Amino acid sequence: MKLIFLGAPGAGKGTQAEIVSEKLGIPTISTGNIIREALKNGTEMGLKAKAFIEAGKLVPDEVVIGIIKDRLAEDDCKNGFILDGFPRTIPQAEALDNMGIEIDKVIDIEVSDDRIVSRMSGRRVCPNCGASYHIEYKRPEKDGICNSCQTELVIRKDDEPAVVLDRLNVYHEQTEPLKDYYAKTGKLKIVEGQEEVADTTKLTLKSLED
Ligand code: AMP
Repeated sequence: MKLIFLGAPGAGKGTQAEIVSEKLGIPTISTGNIIREALKNGTEMGLKAKAFIEAGKLVPDEVVIGIIKDRLAEDDCKNGFILDGFPRTIPQAEALDNMGIEIDKVIDIEVSDDRIVSRMSGRRVCPNCGASYHIEYKRPEKDGICNSCQTELVIRKDDEPAVVLDRLNVYHEQTEPLKDYYAKTGKLKIVEGQEEVADTTKLTLKSLED
């Protein structure tokens, strides 16, 4: 199955994507994670992206389209994949269409801006392996420590409240129009994000059956 997970930053699409990924045995491809990894490793692409990501702006289309083209050509994508955080603009969606990729469903996880701002202030990430936690909704086994690699968790620079507001504005202006784009194809499924991750997951899995 080839899926796109849409939604505002902090709506929980990454968490849902990981859960479905495991269930279906297909990889999740997160452009945000790929870019953060490049940043950490100081690659040319990472350096190009740094100022955009830290200001909560989108990285230029041609950069992310290049990333996705390369990633989807890898072997593990043959039986399907979940795109988390791509496409985020209409030109990115068009580029995906032009790659000849037939998407089965687009799952849009909806959460109000107010709830997103309060959720993101509680998000913590592992600077080493990229795992994501929340001080209320997805606590690590040991406070402030990553379950997988025992590294101390940090707040992402772009999760600071002022940057979150910028990211939400960017989402409404540039990414939200994708809902219409995919509604027209009949592939869009809306999932109302719930307080509990498990409740959202039930709705997400149901939307895949419809
Ligand atoms: P995420 O972890 O998906 O919220 O992505 C973090 C940041 O990476 C975003 O705020 C953007 O700066 C950048 N980014 C990730 N995916 C894309 C994309 N598809 N288009 C442009 N920028 C992106």
